[in-house]
Amino acid sequence: MSLEENCIFCKIVRGEIPCCKVYENDLVLAFLDLAPFNFGHTLVIPKQHSHSITTLGDDYLAAMMQAAAKIAPAILRVTKAGGFNLLLNNGSVAGQEVPHAHLHIIPRFVDDAGLLHVAKKSYGEGEMAAMAAQIAAKLATPEE
Ligand code: AMP
Ligand code: ZN
Repeated sequence: MSLEENCIFCKIVRGEIPCCKVYENDLVLAFLDLAPFNFGHTLVIPKQHSHSITTLGDDYLAAMMQAAAKIAPAILRVTKAGGFNLLLNNGSVAGQEVPHAHLHIIPRFVDDAGLLHVAKKSYGEGEMAAMAAQIAAKLATPEE
């Protein structure tokens, strides 16, 4: 069975399993997350299967962000949330459970439980500039 055939989000796109849809266009579909951080938590997915956003076309990437910017204010109006987080877990080590790229729109409230409580690191002398230079250099060279 191909990745697309087996993929739960592709099954939702094909209408083989139900979802609570809030928006769709030719490129993306948005529906409620069934285990929300807060009520109204919505997922925006490309209609084309891709595990990672790095292998999605620019048209899908743009459509995901455009849809999120359109949908988030509607979620806020309904839930009375004060703001929202956009979250994208890319790769299992980053917390991605469903291997079909998706953007979370998570409405936020002053007194909610929060999402991430990670202690921040600090760079040593010269390490920050070196890191930026290394990443910039990789951008300019094809992947090894
Ligand atoms: P992630 O950890 O970024 O891969 O997030 C996957 C999200 O998909 C989780 O928040 C799940 O609750 C949600 N999810 C999984 N299956 C479904 C489904 N059939 N309908 C709606 N949301 C789902
Ligand atoms: Zn898929």
